[in-house]
Amino acid sequence: MSDTLSVYIHVPFCLKKCSYCDFYSTQALSFLPAYVESLQQEIQIRTDQSPRTGLVGRDPQRVKTIYFGGGTPSLLPLEDVEKILKTLHTCYQVAKDAEITIEVNPGTVDQGYLSGLKSLGVNRLSIGVQSFDIDKIKVLGRIHTVEASIEAIEAAQSAGFDNIGLDLIYGTPRETLATWTRDLKMALEFKVAHLSCYMLTLEPGTPLHAQYERGLLQAPGSRILTDFFTATSVFLEQHGYDHYEISNFAKGRQNRSRHNCAYWQMTSYDGFGPAAHSFVQKGDGTQDFCLSPVRSWNLADVNAYIQALSLGQLPVHEREVLSLQQQMLERVMLGLRTSDGIDITEFEKMLGQDFLTTFDRLLDRLERQGLGAVTGPGKRFLLTLSGRARLDSIVEAFAAKIL
Ligand code: SF4
Repeated sequence: MSDTLSVYIHVPFCLKKCSYCDFYSTQALSFLPAYVESLQQEIQIRTDQSPRTGLVGRDPQRVKTIYFGGGTPSLLPLEDVEKILKTLHTCYQVAKDAEITIEVNPGTVDQGYLSGLKSLGVNRLSIGVQSFDIDKIKVLGRIHTVEASIEAIEAAQSAGFDNIGLDLIYGTPRETLATWTRDLKMALEFKVAHLSCYMLTLEPGTPLHAQYERGLLQAPGSRILTDFFTATSVFLEQHGYDHYEISNFAKGRQNRSRHNCAYWQMTSYDGFGPAAHSFVQKGDGTQDFCLSPVRSWNLADVNAYIQALSLGQLPVHEREVLSLQQQMLERVMLGLRTSDGIDITEFEKMLGQDFLTTFDRLLDRLERQGLGAVTGPGKRFLLTLSGRARLDSIVEAFAAKIL
């Protein structure tokens, strides 16, 4: 039985849709009070039903991480954050040292709000800065200013948060390595514990993608993006940040996002709110799903979500039982993203497949090309930086062996 459980709360409200975003979110803030009621109801119903999550849980400290993501969770009034956390503490047994993160968008918070979060037990902030360049912020369709980002970071530090992460984006139209390096240098000024550097992807259906399709803007080519990726890794490593996941950097192991590490290690998580996903790892005590992992996801519509719960129904949209091939592929895909790599012992224990035999020629080839290697007494397969820069094609090569 897994001894770790994470909880994700999806807060699907935003003041304005950003031009690159394809996450589920709504600007209908009038739903917020009913959403908070429904969310508490969902937590109560699901923990009543599940022997894995409720107070019958065998490990008294089971919830190790709680993450409020969005959307814009910092649009939640403090009293609503308090209500949600109280419900979680009532329905789960939350570890005393649980990591509790909330995503914060500049322009939606002040020091009073952030101090309030701290006093409610939130101990980690992820601030959606994206860039310190106003032109880039505008291309992304974000509503905040550079000044608002700086104010939010300084207010978080004054409120006593020492575990702060900044989210940044690179690879935007017309961006150069020089302007991106300016962003990184500015981020370093704040000496935060964690930086996430996401490569912009042009998701179909977004306004930015439409502009690209109409030829109104040019996306950087894959070679330039590889240069950005490699330069970011080298630069941040030189400045004391450990490149522990493809897009994530931490000042030491203790400052890694424990919540996201749980995803990458494929441990169980319960997701609440519209569009939230949940994952039950096999053999963790849930009576009907103990043989294979199960993923489920909620309705991606706040109104439908509230309606379902008002009828006492769970707002689950779909559920899938992961096949052996899916499990293999996901373990490979997630492991390759991280600097800890694929834990071969865990892979074989969970899946009953011999890793080195299954992928023998591919592993040899990657090793010969300097892209990856089996290392250490712990038997892990890790990609080098050059390998991580080619992650997509390497995952495809593994997939070809699995599927
Ligand atoms: S604030 Fe975040 S979730 Fe909301 S629209 Fe922008 S990118 Fe999407």
